[in-house]
Amino acid sequence: MAEFLGYSAFFDRVRGAVRADRGERTLAVAVINLEFVSKVDGSYGYAAGDDLLRALALRLRDALPQGDVVGEVSRTELTCLFPALLSEQHVELAVNKVMRTLRDPVTVGGHEVYPTPLVGVSSRRLAEDDPDALLREANLAMHCARRRPEGYALYDSKNSPAERLYYELHAELHHAIEENELALFYQPLMDLRTGRIIGSEALLRWNRPGKGYVTPDKVVFVAERTGLIQPLTGWISTVALRQSGALLAEGLDVSVSVNMSVQNLGEPELPRLIARALRLWDVPPSKLILELTETAMMDENPGSLEAMLQLKELGLKLAMDDFGTGYSSMARLRDLPLDELKIDMRFVRDMLASPRDEKLVHSMIDLAHCLGMYVVAEGVETREIANRLRDMGCDVIQGYYLAKPMPMDQYREFVLARNGQPALKAEGSL
Ligand code: C2E
Ligand code: CA
Ligand code: CA
Repeated sequence: MAEFLGYSAFFDRVRGAVRADRGERTLAVAVINLEFVSKVDGSYGYAAGDDLLRALALRLRDALPQGDVVGEVSRTELTCLFPALLSEQHVELAVNKVMRTLRDPVTVGGHEVYPTPLVGVSSRRLAEDDPDALLREANLAMHCARRRPEGYALYDSKNSPAERLYYELHAELHHAIEENELALFYQPLMDLRTGRIIGSEALLRWNRPGKGYVTPDKVVFVAERTGLIQPLTGWISTVALRQSGALLAEGLDVSVSVNMSVQNLGEPELPRLIARALRLWDVPPSKLILELTETAMMDENPGSLEAMLQLKELGLKLAMDDFGTGYSSMARLRDLPLDELKIDMRFVRDMLASPRDEKLVHSMIDLAHCLGMYVVAEGVETREIANRLRDMGCDVIQGYYLAKPMPMDQYREFVLARNGQPALKAEGSL
């Protein structure tokens, strides 16, 4: 029978085992995600969820031999320490045993439950002397397990190139947020009627020292799967509001649009975080636009509508990003508290060559106006397209025709050149 320990005792044990390890045997750590328990909580109540967890932890303790350790990290996470496996090959055998043990159905409160654990494992190679790295790698492997039918993954430097990049980025992203290797670029938005720059979209840039530039979609992809999206979005909103607050203080009347990930909507702290940043940098809420993709908005989860309503109460604006690429239901469009609709660039770019695209763009503009929203067309690359969009009644454009995304100091110059010097501000007004 294995030993069963609580959170901190388990980590102490891992540290001790790493220190004591002479590399003769193989030391491995498994992180076991039991998030399916929350479904049981939802269907049969928390007491049933607790029973299930206890049953699984005891089962694991009984199935593993003496010397191994089972740890309880949180209500939905268990860990195992295998301090002395015979060889690297035995790591996979140990994981298989964990999977078999946990996957057997459990009866709780008269209901049969089929556990679907996700397991990630990392074994200590001789070069690794950091117990935290071992746990971090096991945790990363656990996230990779999500995409595998077998439900588990071994951390391995020979993982597929995509997974390797994923591990690498994750390890560095933490650091990048702390060390300010990330930057926001700003892409101007122009009002088609007045020709004035009315604001910009903040776009994330990560320049990895010595390794070049990582596209923002990749950064967001990794952050969403490794629990880093919250700190990342916190950083993005703070920087966007601080830098835009400085422009507003100078008298440049511009808004800023910030992209939100679908996961941010599920975060109960989000409205408070945004409210705090608005106050801190003295930005009127009406100057902030949050962009959510169509797919995120169509999430039928009632929590996400609630989150949008709470955000709207702060006085900011909500935009639907990449419109036309998801599956909007008219009922949902009618119910969402939206101010702005952004037409995806794939319809805009070839608009003049493709009558179908042009008709689609036209009807999206009309639809948005019917629902009381204003329209931004993305990916406007030529003057001809800009003119045609104006004729169709589009309100705002964004795209390389105006400018590519640029650092804040260049954006400031751009606004000054296009809109002219701001009139002197009266004391205390914005
Ligand atoms: P998006 O929100 O649709 O952003 C617009 C993308 O189109 C940007 O790419 C922008 O540089 C590019 N773009 C703008 N005008 C043109 C044009 O005329 N032609 C062409 N070909 N492209 C144009 P970028 O900066 O690489 O961002 C890619 C995506 O990454 C964004 O798509 C957004 O989904 C995501 N993203 C970027 N920054 C953030 C962020 O701070 N947070 C989150 N959650 N996602 C972000
Ligand atoms: Ca966007
Ligand atoms: Ca977009």
